[in-house]
Amino acid sequence: MSRVFVAGSINMDVVATADRHPRLGETVAGREVLYFPGGKGANQAVSAAKLGAPTTLIGRLGADAFGKQLKAYLGAQGVDLSFVQKTEEAHTGTAIITVADADNTIVVVPGANALVGVDDVAAPIFAKGDIAVSQFEIPLPAISAFFQRARAAGATTILNLAPAIEFGRELLDLVDILILNESELGLLAKRDLHDTDDHARFTEAARSLQTGRGKIICVTLGKRGVLALVNNEPLIIHGESVKAVDTTGAGDCFVGAVAAQLASGKTIADALTYANIAASISVQRMGAAPSMPTMEEVSAFLR
Ligand code: ADP
Repeated sequence: MSRVFVAGSINMDVVATADRHPRLGETVAGREVLYFPGGKGANQAVSAAKLGAPTTLIGRLGADAFGKQLKAYLGAQGVDLSFVQKTEEAHTGTAIITVADADNTIVVVPGANALVGVDDVAAPIFAKGDIAVSQFEIPLPAISAFFQRARAAGATTILNLAPAIEFGRELLDLVDILILNESELGLLAKRDLHDTDDHARFTEAARSLQTGRGKIICVTLGKRGVLALVNNEPLIIHGESVKAVDTTGAGDCFVGAVAAQLASGKTIADALTYANIAASISVQRMGAAPSMPTMEEVSAFLR
């Protein structure tokens, strides 16, 4: 089986729950504090590893308590951390989240993630058939260098366009498969896609990205499933009807699952179908990384 390499962010999400949000300058008493491993890179690596792919994460942690906890957690999920560096110059990436009245506020401090550079992605050795995955929570030069090396070795590259940021089109030349959600598509294609169920509009918006011949674009549509453009033709995968309790990390589960399936030699259509099921299992549980399903759980669903 081929290997999945994920270059990306690793965060500790610190969640404080309270009865209401404080006003500016005010202090309120909260109910509890919860710690969740997060960061899109780490989440996607956990998803791929739990689904059976040999998975290597490339990123940075600070020399602090969160760094230690995340390392232990990710290692226990089966993620290879040989290329996760500890850095003295910054703290571990941290998201401070306040949840009250079913609404949240989030401050993300990238910390060590912002220091991931071209040298960090220079060490892993890719083989033909491997899958290289990245997102926009580490600096762009590192992502470009990572994809260049992967491509040169005959690996397939997957870019998750999240969060939606401005980026140079040269990066797209290095990408085989783009994965983004409907709001990211709306922002990048400059189209209002809110409140639409019309696959033709998503197809038109995805085509407008003009990513070039031979690219696969995959738009995740939440509970409605997935719309992909393969050879510029739409491929629709309907969402699974499930009771969602927490959709945090659904997109990350999906990306990791696509990578794991491609690494095991599946076709893109089979990989997307499988990932749609894996992600629908993840939304039925709380948290991001902890909600990722195992291979056995997806197999049980398929039986
Ligand atoms: P993101 O987490 O990036 O916003 P989406 O909300 O589009 O991404 O979710 C990613 C995938 O997770 C979807 O394409 C689908 O497969 C699955 N999914 C998300 N929400 C639901 C839901 N409510 N019911 C079933 N599947 C879901």
